[in-house]
Amino acid sequence: MKMIYKPQEYRIKDERMKPFIDESEIWEILDTAESTKENVRAVIKKSLAKNRLSMQETALLLKTEDPELIEEIKEGARTLKENVYGDRIVIFAPLYVGNKCVNNCTYCGFRASNKKQKRTTLNEIQLRAEVKSLEDNGQKRLILVYGEHPMYDADFIADSVRTVYSVKSGPGEIRRVNINAAPLDVEGFKKVKASAIGTYQIFQETYHREAYAKYHLSGQKSNFDWRLTGLDRAQEALIDDVGIGALFGLYDWKYEVLGLLRHVNHFEACYNVGPHTISFPRIKAASDSSIDPKFEVSDEDFIRLVAILRLAVPYTGLILTARETKELRTEVIKLGVSQIDAGTNIQLGGYSEENHKEQKLDHEQFEIGDTRNLGEVIDELLDKQYLPSFCTACYRKGRTGEHFMEFSVPGFIKRFCTQNAILTLAEYLEDYATLEQKEKGYKLIDVKIEELNKKDSLKVAPLLERLDKVKQGERDLYF
Ligand code: SAM
Ligand code: SF4
Repeated sequence: MKMIYKPQEYRIKDERMKPFIDESEIWEILDTAESTKENVRAVIKKSLAKNRLSMQETALLLKTEDPELIEEIKEGARTLKENVYGDRIVIFAPLYVGNKCVNNCTYCGFRASNKKQKRTTLNEIQLRAEVKSLEDNGQKRLILVYGEHPMYDADFIADSVRTVYSVKSGPGEIRRVNINAAPLDVEGFKKVKASAIGTYQIFQETYHREAYAKYHLSGQKSNFDWRLTGLDRAQEALIDDVGIGALFGLYDWKYEVLGLLRHVNHFEACYNVGPHTISFPRIKAASDSSIDPKFEVSDEDFIRLVAILRLAVPYTGLILTARETKELRTEVIKLGVSQIDAGTNIQLGGYSEENHKEQKLDHEQFEIGDTRNLGEVIDELLDKQYLPSFCTACYRKGRTGEHFMEFSVPGFIKRFCTQNAILTLAEYLEDYATLEQKEKGYKLIDVKIEELNKKDSLKVAPLLERLDKVKQGERDLYF
């Protein structure tokens, strides 16, 4: 059988491919950080002045247990979000393509040893049905998710991406496909890149080797270094849009935040550009799995860690998933999250097959916390004056590193992001919303246009012209 990865043949090609995590360095930074009111406040101030934080500075934020300072850290993250990113939230949905898996990650319902899990790989017809269902709901951006299995090689992944792009249902289409799958070799990444993916996400799960070995018992994924350097091979294959992440609950959360930062540093040093996004999933209950609660991250600490990440890497996109509950998501979004999934169903065939509407642990990877449909999530965002966005413009215009540009190019958000958010929201309102939601959505659009017009004195005539065209039935207009 054809294999996609051969870690045993993996050789360090050059500096960039060297595993860069040194546990003792991270612990030393944490152990020697001494937070005081003065230095924590100075670090928050530095971030608010639009500077990226070092690991040492971030450790000061992580180490403080002073409730007053923790509140100031959260306030800082909220301010940064409001001042820099404004009120757009990009929406996407995960689509599970196959849950066969050769690995044994003890926390995951898909692990090879879990005989209770029903194994399915969507065939082309089923994949098309899933995409159609998602499009009929109004989704425009997907992330395809796969177990790690020889069957899901680079050709398979690239084929599924092409299939997804080819499905059109009425006005519906998928305009950006991201990937969450096992690390490939350089040739594999090249094949997947050729299918026009957006971001390739690989979560390290834990940046601590010993802990990693404890949770990844067998299979390709048990090779820490192969996984750690996965996104370097993606870069080698010219996939420069990559997402990193840690699975919180496996090891000390403060250590993992610095591990993520070390990963960002590696990227910036080697490629001159950080990762596009950071994800921070928390462990959820999974079929036939039990996880030692020793490193469980409380809601309060979770909120803290997101705020600290926002301040530490102010120009990296932050992704918050439906693993978390509606209530917690509402709270955490304010701290600077840029993307959320909505209308999420992580069962194989879950979007199109009636019998998969209920959560069933033996049919999915883990339990999700926010089970609302897309319309309900959009409704809440509108009520809270957020602009739900399905924008894919930067990716399609070849404007890479969009989060960095949003952060650093004055006027970028106003000229591109807000206007594109308005146009994609209008498409959604025209094609998929209830009458009531349509009315609510257009009211918010009016407010946002007024703000662009007045506060930021942007000439809104081209936007109004395009908005009018969307109302007349034209689609996919963007700046
Ligand atoms: N199989 C590939 C891999 O492991 O990289 C693809 C993605 S896996 C299906 C997606 C991610 O789900 C994993 O990287 C892990 O962080 C997360 N995950 C696995 N089990 C989980 C659980 N019980 N609760 C929350 N997230 C989990
Ligand atoms: Fe397989 Fe990924 Fe689950 Fe690990 S996390 S068992 S590799 S699907």
